[in-house]
Amino acid sequence: MNTQMHSTSDNKRRIINVSNRLPVKITSINEEITYQASEGGLSTGLGSVFSEMDSLWIGWPGMEVQEKLQDRVTYDLRNKNLHPIFLDAQEISKYYEGFSNEIIWPLFHYFPSYSSYDPEYWQAYLSVNKKFAEEIIKFATAEDIVWVHDYHLMLVPALVRAALPGITIGYFQHIPFPSYEVFRAMPWKKEVLEGLLGADIAGFQTEEDAAHFTQAVSNILGIGAKGAGFEVENGRQVKVQAFPISIDYKKFRELAAEDLTEKYAQKIRTDINTKILLSIDRLDYSKGIIQRLKAFECFLKKHPEWKQRVTFIHLIVPSRDQVRKYAELKEEMDRLVSDINGRYSTLTWQPIHHRYCSVPPNMLSALYSCADMAIVSPLIDGMNLVCKEYVASNISRKGVLLLSEYAGAAKELTDALLINPNDVERFANKINEGLLMPEDKRISKMKRMQDTIKQADIFTWARNFTDQLTGLRRTRIVSLPTPVNAEIGHYIDSSYADAGKRLMLLDYDGTLMPFFNVPADAAPDPSLYSLITKLSADKRNDLVIISGRDKNTLDEWLGALPIHIVAEHGSWFREKNGEWRNPQGLTGGWKTDVSAVLQKYVNQIPGSFIEQKSYSLAWHYRQADGKLAKDNIRNITAHLNAVLKQHKLEILLGNKVLEVKSNSINKGKAASYFMQKADYEFILALGDDNTDEDMFAVMPENGISIKVGTNISRAHYSLNSYLEVRKLLANMCEMAIIHRHNVPLAS
Ligand code: UDP
Repeated sequence: MNTQMHSTSDNKRRIINVSNRLPVKITSINEEITYQASEGGLSTGLGSVFSEMDSLWIGWPGMEVQEKLQDRVTYDLRNKNLHPIFLDAQEISKYYEGFSNEIIWPLFHYFPSYSSYDPEYWQAYLSVNKKFAEEIIKFATAEDIVWVHDYHLMLVPALVRAALPGITIGYFQHIPFPSYEVFRAMPWKKEVLEGLLGADIAGFQTEEDAAHFTQAVSNILGIGAKGAGFEVENGRQVKVQAFPISIDYKKFRELAAEDLTEKYAQKIRTDINTKILLSIDRLDYSKGIIQRLKAFECFLKKHPEWKQRVTFIHLIVPSRDQVRKYAELKEEMDRLVSDINGRYSTLTWQPIHHRYCSVPPNMLSALYSCADMAIVSPLIDGMNLVCKEYVASNISRKGVLLLSEYAGAAKELTDALLINPNDVERFANKINEGLLMPEDKRISKMKRMQDTIKQADIFTWARNFTDQLTGLRRTRIVSLPTPVNAEIGHYIDSSYADAGKRLMLLDYDGTLMPFFNVPADAAPDPSLYSLITKLSADKRNDLVIISGRDKNTLDEWLGALPIHIVAEHGSWFREKNGEWRNPQGLTGGWKTDVSAVLQKYVNQIPGSFIEQKSYSLAWHYRQADGKLAKDNIRNITAHLNAVLKQHKLEILLGNKVLEVKSNSINKGKAASYFMQKADYEFILALGDDNTDEDMFAVMPENGISIKVGTNISRAHYSLNSYLEVRKLLANMCEMAIIHRHNVPLAS
């Protein structure tokens, strides 16, 4: 499959866009298939970015395609850089209509009572998300960028990350992210958040959405926010940011100026011949349709002077009307429209011109350009594009925008008349206020709103998001450690041999020794002991064993050797002469409180235990049920949150261990202390887990850092296991001897 995509070069970066729907409409009549590009804002915006990148768009073609036609559709779409994922009727019903539109959509739009948490929907959502992820993995390499769109695919980022840890992933959510109190109602909330944290950037429409997501992650997964995001496995950063989406401003301007649009607009003006109010929405309970009709009726009641002088064009685009809640909404809307028209119409005037249909682009533009006021009144909306389209299309600038304060767009379009759609009386007054607004005020407001949208259009949005992903990819590729091969090995050996003074910072567990179920079993074996003895015997070497282990154990195991030891991540330092000391200001008074919390989990999770250190506490779960322990890490973190803040502590997640320690110590600080001790010509750092990343971060430009394991790391190089580490160290010793005796190297 990979052969279908071109090879990557640095200036022709590869991006894989993934959304539930492909930007194409397929029609099949008697096995005759036709394809029509759907010109949505998203495909237009992304089109500009994609033209500069080697791109592929993966998604569902929007209909059930018969199995015998699937290969043909795949083949045909390949020319358009599209790749279809076919869904069967069950999947469409349970993943798309069920989980996405009957659970996530209502919950995320603050209609929790509309969500029906059918476990079968969840199973289908999980399996379709896996299907998407598998398809992405077939095409992607670790050097690609994957951009996942929206709530249908919230598990995809983590599923792709699991297969390709080094890949760059962005997720953008087009709908709101609800507040924690609402979100937490969902049975699969942890899985959803974990899915999203697989991304490097989690983008939302507004700052509020981003803050809601951040709070949900902190409260539910127990991961504290770090800057504008989170730090997750292996020190990987997840950035959480608002990227308000927009429209193709220029396209809407041009459309408004077309002759056909002008012709339609003339006709509307002549036929209606009153002031025009306009609303355009998909049929949806989030759009505030009922509240708006009630506000309009209230307006007619309170301001009878406008009768016969105002007409409300009420366009509702059909949507999901097979779903019960939508059918009910339609019924209520139809009833209210006919009530109002029945009550207020005269022989020559009908207050509401209600249409339930979609309209072609020129008609849409004509409606926008001749409306004296657009009323956009959702109860909640991720962004709302209709209001931006109205502003862009209002060439005369004489129109007024009445906008719900609960639309994402309200944050940007501050010159709109803002309303609370539930406050029917004030809403009605605002309609009156808008109709009476002086022309110069309308023009200046409209101009400012047009400038705002012009400056931040769909192209700016798409570029902003992809630029950030591209920047991350660049650092990511640099930060994927290169496996030590023969050439690198030789470079390390000879740098070592050539150097006058050398510093070697060596982590212990997982780096020099394998892991044992019982930490006390990891005493150095004779071969390691002799290796360290040999290395430390060389007068040019300063060896530092830099570990999270307690001081007494390290002293017992290695204290007889002329080496430095750092214990408990830097709470204790031992000089070569055997003297132990610790940095000033450390206290362990907090340990009683933390211990009490950890003890609860020891009782609940058989096999886990607490290790007491002088200035830290470690909760080990190597011998416990891994899943149970991992699930509880969130609870422990949430439980400890207050005490961590109070005592300036932090949690370190190591290999099957959770450690609580002062946030003023880490291996980076310890490493820096030793680096300043002498003028080293060779500095080597070796480590295998998260805590070693701090050490890699402070390495000088010419230092050599090696990660043990294959994950993303700040280290330059990687080795697979402690055995390879020992081999490398042994080779270095050998090389130094050969070098000293001036033995020529085999060519
Ligand atoms: N729209 C459409 N057909 C119509 C009327 C409107 O496709 O007959 C478009 C409109 O131009 C806008 C979109 O539907 O781009 C509605 O987007 P919005 O963000 O306002 O709401 P959503 O339906 O996505 O919740």
